[in-house]
Amino acid sequence: MQAEKFPLRLSQAHLSLLEYCPRRFEHTVVDYLSIPASPQLLEGQLWGERFHLFMQQQEMGLPMSAVMAQDSDLQACVDALQLTGTTLFGSGELFRHSEYEQAFTLNGYRFTVIYDLLRVWNNRSEIVDWKTYLKPRKQAELKRNWQTRLYLYALVESTDLAPEQVEMTYWFVRTRNQINQVLEPQHVQIAYSQDRHEQTHQDLLRITEQLTDWLGRSQPFPQVPETMERCGSCPFVSRCRRNQDSREVERVFLPDLGRIKEVTL
Ligand code: SF4
Repeated sequence: MQAEKFPLRLSQAHLSLLEYCPRRFEHTVVDYLSIPASPQLLEGQLWGERFHLFMQQQEMGLPMSAVMAQDSDLQACVDALQLTGTTLFGSGELFRHSEYEQAFTLNGYRFTVIYDLLRVWNNRSEIVDWKTYLKPRKQAELKRNWQTRLYLYALVESTDLAPEQVEMTYWFVRTRNQINQVLEPQHVQIAYSQDRHEQTHQDLLRITEQLTDWLGRSQPFPQVPETMERCGSCPFVSRCRRNQDSREVERVFLPDLGRIKEVTL
């Protein structure tokens, strides 16, 4: 593995993977080993892509009635979102744009983010992200994840806005009432601060320095400690020799070197 082979472009998914397990990052990002998605996951992804495309086209002012008529599930979600009384569909913004790309460079890496919707007023801005999986996430978890951290960081780095002037809102558009199963979209709002911006900056420096070091070595990236119990559900468990079967194979094929007699040459 050579450092120059790596494209030096990073996203929030790369950062999450690096923190989850550096070896898994190496398998999937550096060595391009793909993992087949389950049919259930694929179905969810396709629905999510349709929803994102719909919201983007609506934002562009394209006529959407024909699309809505053919997709009652999508229509129900958009209707439920409008019924929340949210100001999402327009509230005096100076600028609003869907699928808005922002990028910055740090420590030799190019970071790119794409906002589902960016809303800008005189002295503040909001990043909106559509979530189409069924269960909403807790605010504390969302605050910690790399999507929130990188998206907010990128907005401050690429505009004149101070950290306190930006925020991020996740909309869980498929959430249903647990009792009557009626669609009830929920949102989680996350504020930002100078302290969190500085912390993210330090973390990005640390992670990119570490990554450059790993890419420059002729050794595999480190594996996550077994005590963290992440290997059992990982598709690379055999490749990493972290499952029982691969250890059995090792036991069968690798003889005890101490019991091999020395051969005199
Ligand atoms: S099996 Fe474990 S060490 Fe290997 S990539 Fe997966 S999580 Fe990392």
